[in-house]
Amino acid sequence: MDKILLMLQLQASLNEATNGQEWTKGVTKNSKVINWKRCIYMECAEMIDSFSWKHWKNIEQEADWANLQIEVVDVWHFIMSLAIENYANNYKGSIDELALDISNLVNFSKIETKNKLFAPQDKVIEKIESIMFDVLNKDGLELEKLINEFFDLVIMSGLDLQTLYKLYVGKNILNQFRQDHGYKDGSYIKVWAGQEDNVVMKRVLDDSSDISPSELYKELTKLYLALNKS
Ligand code: MG
Ligand code: MG
Repeated sequence: MDKILLMLQLQASLNEATNGQEWTKGVTKNSKVINWKRCIYMECAEMIDSFSWKHWKNIEQEADWANLQIEVVDVWHFIMSLAIENYANNYKGSIDELALDISNLVNFSKIETKNKLFAPQDKVIEKIESIMFDVLNKDGLELEKLINEFFDLVIMSGLDLQTLYKLYVGKNILNQFRQDHGYKDGSYIKVWAGQEDNVVMKRVLDDSSDISPSELYKELTKLYLALNKS
């Protein structure tokens, strides 16, 4: 429960910083329309690209499970955003109530159990497409079904609450870092000395298991500035 609440709080502050105070109304401070459902199904497409699903290309290529996990964390940013927006606009309650409701979902207890096993590729793709359908369904959104299915996907991707939390905090900090260093105007450098920033962030996380969000931010700053000097 604590971890869910913390992630929702981090997400809300990232959205405020990126899009402005009024982001739950569906428009950013730069007057861009926000469409979380589209963010979700596009990120789902990136997940499917972790597999060699094309029957005509690179047919022997192994699945990239590490990338799948990163994309699962990406989509979690958007599912939490959609949920916060949904709660705000339908007067269902604050982030605290949302966190409580999420922890009472049937699938929440599943992700509390430690897990490292991957499901078969076809099953994972099926689940991803089911999530896409949840957000493309013209009859409206069933938020609880969406989050329950996402928790299924967490398990199927070899993650659990602990590992989801760790990767989420890492990616959230990286996203904040990107916003603070020119992501919106396009001046941000995404490849750091031959490695994508995602990979660098993951290495920093792996190297120091108890790193705090602010320490991670500092470490990223150090590495990024060193890069600009060379
Ligand atoms: Mg993306
Ligand atoms: Mg992505």
